[in-house]
Amino acid sequence: MKVFLYNTLTRSTDEFKSITPGKAGLYVCGPTVYGRAHIGNLRSWIFADTLRRVLQANNFVVTEVINITDVGHLVGDGDEGEDKLQKAADKESKTAWDIAAEYTKLFVEDIKKVNIETPSVMPKATDHIAEQIELVKAMEEKGFTYTITDGVYFDTAKMPEYGQLSRQRIDEKEEGTRIEVNAEKRNPSDFALWKFSPAGEQRHMEWESPWGKGFPGWHLECSAMSEKYLGVPFDLHTGGVDHIAVHHENEIAQTLAARGVMEANYWLHNEFLQVDGGKMSKSLGNFYSIDDLLAKEISPLAFRYFVLGAHYRTQLNFTWEAVQAAQNALGNIIDVVRTWSKPGEVDEGVMKRFMTAVNNDLDTPAGLAIMWSLINDDIVESSTKAATLLAMDEVLGLALEDVVARPVRVTDEAQKLLEQREVARLAKDWERSDLLRDELFGLGYVVEDKPDGQHLKERR
Ligand code: AMP
Ligand code: ZN
Repeated sequence: MKVFLYNTLTRSTDEFKSITPGKAGLYVCGPTVYGRAHIGNLRSWIFADTLRRVLQANNFVVTEVINITDVGHLVGDGDEGEDKLQKAADKESKTAWDIAAEYTKLFVEDIKKVNIETPSVMPKATDHIAEQIELVKAMEEKGFTYTITDGVYFDTAKMPEYGQLSRQRIDEKEEGTRIEVNAEKRNPSDFALWKFSPAGEQRHMEWESPWGKGFPGWHLECSAMSEKYLGVPFDLHTGGVDHIAVHHENEIAQTLAARGVMEANYWLHNEFLQVDGGKMSKSLGNFYSIDDLLAKEISPLAFRYFVLGAHYRTQLNFTWEAVQAAQNALGNIIDVVRTWSKPGEVDEGVMKRFMTAVNNDLDTPAGLAIMWSLINDDIVESSTKAATLLAMDEVLGLALEDVVARPVRVTDEAQKLLEQREVARLAKDWERSDLLRDELFGLGYVVEDKPDGQHLKERR
């Protein structure tokens, strides 16, 4: 089947054609590991994971790279201000290396919780300093760089193609309002390739280079590491829409300057997750991580289901009510599929409709609607439904293989607590009943009180 994807570069929905038949190289802009990933970041990785799953369901062998930005990303997203990692380290009286290790570990745990498959490669910027220096040398040899007081910069005026991704002219590019404009820069859109360590100050992370001691600019790692692991050009590059105008534009410029080719053929960008209709921010107290979801008993997989309910190119508004509704919907699916017979044959007709939907620029809302009509179908055998649903879940990633045709297993310990709770309820001892419910929750169960008695579900 053909896969159609919206390409930010061409501004059209094109059929995906890979460079090597049957293979696809995918580069995903990963976390800047100075803090815990928020649920908006997770939306961008669930989107990339869905892209990978769709390609795999179409028989592509996918090599996926998610980079770990552990140096060079400055507070202003430009070339001024403090390094995000160093700032976080100073605040917590740790080194930037400790901060990077801590949040990289949390990133790996977080993506597992939302059932994102571990990527083929997860390279760190700090492990690829030599490659980045080599890339700057190649740009320098071709005359695209200049040196000022605080670093080596890319001269965007030397590249007529600059701005092709966002269709911005260099004179239109605005400097961030929060940061000082660097008066030595030749053009506002010029960006740092190598920044010098400030005189008389030792940074936690710094390296020798032909231009002086310092650290790489933020955009450099992605050009260097994508080339190392996927070659140049490679097939697909993803990130959030905020990366179009600066980060990806600059990656494209670097690779084009150094190697003379477009870095990647397909550029895909997810829209933002908003919270309560606005931007997520620490000061508003709506900066949620997976732990905040768990604290409100929302499972990470329910969040994944919630994300899949919107097309990746539309803004999605997170509210607790909406994610609770997603959790209820997923819970209903689980209740039904547990009662089904063991998987038999896939219904090829239904599966084809599903694949046509998701192959249309990852239309997961349409895919979910087809899944629901299969679940609610009274005629199709449950063994056929089970097999078809599991095939769909290869793309959706809702971990349904754990529940299809598997009734809830109640351990002896849980059964005992359940019986004690029944006694407490008959005696109208609600306090004890609640305590026992909490104990069952600790064992991994959710108790629901229905007119015909207590029902146990596994907590997901
Ligand atoms: P960062 O760690 O800031 O480099 O961001 C990691 C990824 O998350 C990037 O691809 C961003 O574009 C993306 N991103 C950041 N905020 C949001 C958001 N609110 N919704 C969706 N994606 C986001
Ligand atoms: Zn990147």
